Amino acid sequence: MVSKKIILPVVILSFLFTGLILFNAGQAVAAEGNLFIGSRGDTVVQVQQALNTKGYWCGTADGIFGPKTYSAVIRFQREAGLDVDGIVGPQTKKALGLGYSSPAYTPSRGARTLTLVATGYCSCAKCNYPYGGQPSYLGYPLKKGIVAVDPRVIPMGSRLYIEGYGNAIAADQGNAIKGNRIDLCFSTHQEALNWGIKTVKVTLY
Ligand SMILES: [Zn+2]
Repeated sequence: MVSKKIILPVVILSFLFTGLILFNAGQAVAAEGNLFIGSRGDTVVQVQQALNTKGYWCGTADGIFGPKTYSAVIRFQREAGLDVDGIVGPQTKKALGLGYSSPAYTPSRGARTLTLVATGYCSCAKCNYPYGGQPSYLGYPLKKGIVAVDPRVIPMGSRLYIEGYGNAIAADQGNAIKGNRIDLCFSTHQEALNWGIKTVKVTLY
């Protein structure tokens, strides 16, 4: 009889191997939207934030699925009773509260606070290609205080307070603004560039 203490590391190693093979297999897995070692991007940021929030610390949410994120995913999957494969697929996303089938943010009464990834834009043609010069989705002129949101996360017309930005109204939408992304309008292109990309607390009233 083999001791459990030996089996576990072996199992983890074999999963690690599987992860690396899948990483090399690449596209098929990526096409399904699964995240695994080597994945990068906003969805990885969401996964990392969800893991950190749930107490499975994986370091700063930098959008890079590295070894720390992998081991946090493993720990989360094990404790959540999921298949422990280190791959963030539909089941793991759902358990983390991500994905549109089970929204991470359920509306509630009164003020609520979301942690979102905020980028900046302005009214210029570069920022609004191919819609340069057009008003926001709700018809307000594009200026500071207008923000683009995913209406499945924040209802259009919501009054918001955004840490480091100020009061705002959810009055615009954007192709790239999905899930936990938000786009803050600035008066000038330079101010939008200066903002860059930040993780902010957003209060909805
Ligand atoms: Zn601009």
